[in-house]
Amino acid sequence: QRAAQEAERSRPAVTTDGCSIAIGANINQPEQAPFALAQGGEGVGLMRTEFLFLERGDSPSEDEQFAIYRAMIDALDGRPLIVRALDIGGDKQVPHLDLPREENPFLGVRGARLLLRRPDLLDPQLRALYRAAKLGGDLSIMFPMITSASELITLRDRCDEIRVALDAPQVPIGIMIEVPAAAVQAQALAAHADFFSIGTNDLTQYALAIDRQNPELASEADSLHPAVLRLIAMTVEGARSHNRWVGVCGGIAGDPFGAALLVGLGVDELSMTPRDIPAVKARIRAADRTALATLAARALAAESAADVRALDGEGA
Ligand code: PEP
Ligand code: MG
Repeated sequence: QRAAQEAERSRPAVTTDGCSIAIGANINQPEQAPFALAQGGEGVGLMRTEFLFLERGDSPSEDEQFAIYRAMIDALDGRPLIVRALDIGGDKQVPHLDLPREENPFLGVRGARLLLRRPDLLDPQLRALYRAAKLGGDLSIMFPMITSASELITLRDRCDEIRVALDAPQVPIGIMIEVPAAAVQAQALAAHADFFSIGTNDLTQYALAIDRQNPELASEADSLHPAVLRLIAMTVEGARSHNRWVGVCGGIAGDPFGAALLVGLGVDELSMTPRDIPAVKARIRAADRTALATLAARALAAESAADVRALDGEGA
């Protein structure tokens, strides 16, 4: 019975009309990989590296980081691994870094903005990652909180310098799309990024101007709000213009109806917390991609998140 369940979970997420969706897991530690794979994960679509800094009183050295990336690569045995560069700031505060207090941390020096100001954080991480890339495996690097192409270009240049110095192979370099400006300018960013992964948690917070941590507004911070869906549609369109793939690694990717809508909007990959994988895969396998595209068009034209959710069951 258990074997039958695992076999079912390992089946790919292909719609009834043959559209294949890559399914990744959001995990941070190599120890979580066996469970993620058993749930049907086909790789890691988001490895948040903040935990390396959050759970201790100091910053991990380059060697310590390398050991963890190597362990993750080993655990995945050739499957894709997307490691997100440090996303500190906003809700992810690291006391030992002694960063200046900000009035609005979510609008402050977080993610890529911090990496660009702190080579002492960026460089050891990139060195550890390129050393790991030399081991083989299928590694990609992803930068969080990109707002403008210039940030990405600077970060890519640094990646290149470090790669050349280490005589390491090239790896795909992608970005999170989680700032509305990045979604709107997706076409310009796609010229410089190898792939996109949409962070709907932050994209929703910034598009709707709702603090993602405010419990009072939790029900209104719905990633299926038509305004957020339009930003996602723009992101897909921008990615397509340069033949880039686009995934979603925010929480809505793990919601079966949300996942179906995202497939209808044209995303290629969904990455989620491992326990959500079986239900999302089952939903995609039961759906017709063309019907989902029609559903997505109706969702884009809806007036509210509630109206979008009311479409659940109609063609999905
Ligand atoms: C997101 O913003 O949707 C995301 C996946 O990143 P995080 O939740 O780590 O900010
Ligand atoms: Mg985010």
